Amino acid sequence: MATGSINVSVENIFPLIKKFLYSDHEIFLRELISNATDATLKLKHLTNIGEASVEYGNPTIEVKVDKENKLLHIIDQGIGMTAEEVEKYINQVAFSGAEEFLEKYKDSAKDSGIIGHFGLGFYSAFMVAEKVEIITKSYTDAPAAHWTCDGSPTYTIEAHDKTERGTEIILHIGEEDTEFLEENRISELLVKYNKFMPVSIKFGTKTETLPKPEGAKEEDPAPTQEVDNIINNPNPAWTKQPAELKDEDYKGFYRELYPMQFEEPLFNIHLNVDYPFNLTGILYFPKLGQDMSMQKDRIQLYQNQVFVTDNVEGIVPEFLTMLRGVIDSPDIPLNVSRSYLQADGAVKKISSYITRKVADKLSSLFKNDREDFESKWNDIKVVIEYGMLSEDKFFEKADKFALYPTVDNTYFTFEELQEKIKENQTDKDNKLVVLYASNQDEQHAYISAAKDKGYEVLLLDSPIVSHLIQKLETSKENITFARVDGDHIDNLIKKDEETISKLSDEEKESLKTDLEKVIPADKYTVQLEAMDSNASPFIITQPEFMRRMKEMQQTGGGGMNMFGNMPEMFNLIVNTNHELIGQIKDTKTDKKKERLIKQSLDLARLSQNLLKGEELTDFIKRSFEMIK
Ligand code: ADP
Repeated sequence: MATGSINVSVENIFPLIKKFLYSDHEIFLRELISNATDATLKLKHLTNIGEASVEYGNPTIEVKVDKENKLLHIIDQGIGMTAEEVEKYINQVAFSGAEEFLEKYKDSAKDSGIIGHFGLGFYSAFMVAEKVEIITKSYTDAPAAHWTCDGSPTYTIEAHDKTERGTEIILHIGEEDTEFLEENRISELLVKYNKFMPVSIKFGTKTETLPKPEGAKEEDPAPTQEVDNIINNPNPAWTKQPAELKDEDYKGFYRELYPMQFEEPLFNIHLNVDYPFNLTGILYFPKLGQDMSMQKDRIQLYQNQVFVTDNVEGIVPEFLTMLRGVIDSPDIPLNVSRSYLQADGAVKKISSYITRKVADKLSSLFKNDREDFESKWNDIKVVIEYGMLSEDKFFEKADKFALYPTVDNTYFTFEELQEKIKENQTDKDNKLVVLYASNQDEQHAYISAAKDKGYEVLLLDSPIVSHLIQKLETSKENITFARVDGDHIDNLIKKDEETISKLSDEEKESLKTDLEKVIPADKYTVQLEAMDSNASPFIITQPEFMRRMKEMQQTGGGGMNMFGNMPEMFNLIVNTNHELIGQIKDTKTDKKKERLIKQSLDLARLSQNLLKGEELTDFIKRSFEMIK
């Protein structure tokens, strides 16, 4: 037996490893299985090129828990190491890697920005083990070696009688880390990190039901057998060529990724590039609801089929973090903080490549089957609208396929919409006015009034639509948006109706005074208008600009909360040509007049969903009184 001292300048590196990486203890298993995988694939390569005259067969990596003796075994059938190689790779190379890491991250290791993969490799075993053994037999004729290290810089190395090729790592799990002796915990980690690794990983056995033999009776139980429990799928869909895969394969892989997800994805995008960076992956568009925050963090990042993280912030543009799927790239630097990542040239290229691929896919879906694209629009619009807002390059492309549905389910592109409304939807300055509603039920009265006049009304109901409108107004020429209950719409209505008022100027003056006595001035600006006598007597509209600013602030519009704190202000448009208004004007007693005005105001509020709580209760009571 030989002993030696590991070549290391830090007196005792293991307590440091433990301390700095406390929260990431679990990655030791991923690191050891990655080594076992590398060793297996190296052997495969050597046999392929005729350098190793051994039977490669169908090697597996086995993980075994021995709870009683507090041991965890990781056994591979790979290339193995000779005693000299252990000396060289484990004692020297590996340790300098660990040392380098600690030197670099001494101060920043606590920075939560550091992602999981540290390149700590083999030595991460000491995060959970107080003693580690390596029993390894090289694929060459050299005898097996047995290396032991208890966490101090000294180790022992001796001969071993192991005859099968490969390496067994034995971890003596420490008191604080006994969770890693629980089968469930190990199983969870294997599924999390190793589900798609390229070499089969065995963990325990499972019972498989076999078909009943011929002639078996109904009541006979089906025979069973114990088989190896293989954790991973070594050939996941993203590692294959798109041409090899059918729609069903993509859907199947989605279920593999998200076993608890019952809804099928809408479509997928296969990423496959090897220059100027290497990246493969499959992204899925899930059905997205209106809530954007809930959906994030479903894209998994892999490096050569090893799971790294499901937080792809900084790698994938923000608006695409709502998608699902897998990205695999050895070119993403992982041992750096997020802010650094965003500035990294390769990462920027990756991010814009992904954006471009997504835009191209959407564009081809739109072109190839518009009807199908329209049917999916409501489930994908948040992503597209968000992308149009946040990435100018994406906006340019999406502008051709982004859809603007009407309340009657006709879908226009922006260009088509402009064409459609240019005849009769312009204001005094000849600007095109796009009318839209955000809620069909709540704005029903306004929508039907606008439709009666022959206007197209869009239904724009995603949570970020006010931002998008703002963006469209500034990036397009000569166009303005007006919500059906907004004040902008007045321009439009007035223009085509040169209606003459039935009231004289004096009558109007005194009516206005009467109205303002009853209607609270801190909430409503009273405006008399001569409209069609069939139009509503009282119409409440809201200043478009103010409402939009408030909405934008609610959905994250940056900076100060300038508008959010402003009181709600409304316009009360009184149609002087309506019969009821004439009646109000002619009512003799003040009390009765007041009651009529109040009731009318409440009805107008009711139609705008502004009557609530006690006021609504009072209104209902009053109305019953009136009709009885
Ligand atoms: P890295 O894998 O990044 O090189 P490690 O510290 O994990 O660093 O491992 C150092 C070296 O030890 C590896 O490069 C490899 O040569 C050798 N090694 C580690 N684990 C095994 C194994 N299971 N079988 C064969 N060689 C191994």
